[in-house]
Amino acid sequence: MKRFKSAGVIGGILIAMVLAVALYAQGLGQGRGGGQGRGQAQGGGEAQRGPYLPVNGQEPSLAVCYGLLAGARNPPPGTAPCRAITRVRGDLYSVQVNRYNTVFLVTPAGVILADPINVETATWLKEEIAQRFHVPVKYVVYSEVMQDHSSGAGVFHDTAEIWAHADLPKDLLLETEALGADRTKDIVPPDKTYTTRQTLTLGGKSVVLMHPGINHSNDATVLLFPAERVAFIVDFISTRRPFASELYPPLCKYCTATFTDWINSFKAVEALDFDLFVAGHGMVGTKADVTLYRRFFEEMVTGVTNGFKAGETLEQIQASDLLESYSWLLGYNPSRNQKMAEAYAYLQATQGNKTAQAGAPAASRH
Ligand SMILES: [Zn+2]
Repeated sequence: MKRFKSAGVIGGILIAMVLAVALYAQGLGQGRGGGQGRGQAQGGGEAQRGPYLPVNGQEPSLAVCYGLLAGARNPPPGTAPCRAITRVRGDLYSVQVNRYNTVFLVTPAGVILADPINVETATWLKEEIAQRFHVPVKYVVYSEVMQDHSSGAGVFHDTAEIWAHADLPKDLLLETEALGADRTKDIVPPDKTYTTRQTLTLGGKSVVLMHPGINHSNDATVLLFPAERVAFIVDFISTRRPFASELYPPLCKYCTATFTDWINSFKAVEALDFDLFVAGHGMVGTKADVTLYRRFFEEMVTGVTNGFKAGETLEQIQASDLLESYSWLLGYNPSRNQKMAEAYAYLQATQGNKTAQAGAPAASRH
């Protein structure tokens, strides 16, 4: 019995060691395309199967952060947040807090920061930036209005000017109406706005704010760091996952984006000159990942539309091999069927066939 126990313990240790080595090897092996932390990240090339190095690299805890980046939700209340600051390229850094990412660029004259995420994160980040770089945050740029990305800029407002797309204030009213004033109370309205494109320059460095059109919201801003050839994209594109935003109902939370609007916003990003992008959630991607994301969306809406027009039921379309070649994407199931249902419900609503109800699931916030 004792020997049996010992064998069990040894077996357990061996399994744990194998798992640890596998996780470590996975981290080491994923540097190409999405890696950072070990020197400069290398971009370009076709999207390859398999996960990239998580934004947070190896710290603070590969196991904890790996679980989060593999799609898990935030850790339970009371658990210390999983936080990491990682150099992406040059003086551009990514910040991971649980399942959220943001970026900042350090210049001799101060810092250009993207989303503050929330008050707690902003308070921590202000201290980290002061200690590490000894310069204040001079700009905060919102990627979009969503309160889980854009709260907390008030922490930096003593030194920073806040920028956003011109439609953000209007979307903020809708966000407040939808969620209640308590949920949006920490979103500071922007000091300055732009409509299509805006370059901010600080300390000899720059960031380009680009509006890709309507998609997940009306007020999306892609931050492009031209010298670093890195973009920051939140919510409307994910890395190596199926299309993740809500399509219906409503088509998108605050806008009336058509399938074509979505495709155009992906193409607007593909037209930018960059190698890597830090996503608002999940892993760093390459431009090839943006193309992959667009192709999934195009094939999904084309396939569902063709089936709908041919009189097929949602279940018949779901039972086909549509999108089969994307089954390696993270979270392919159940996203594939869910997004097909949303696309089908949208077609029913917009093309007059309201006899059959697709039973689209509730929209999932991203
Ligand atoms: Zn999000």
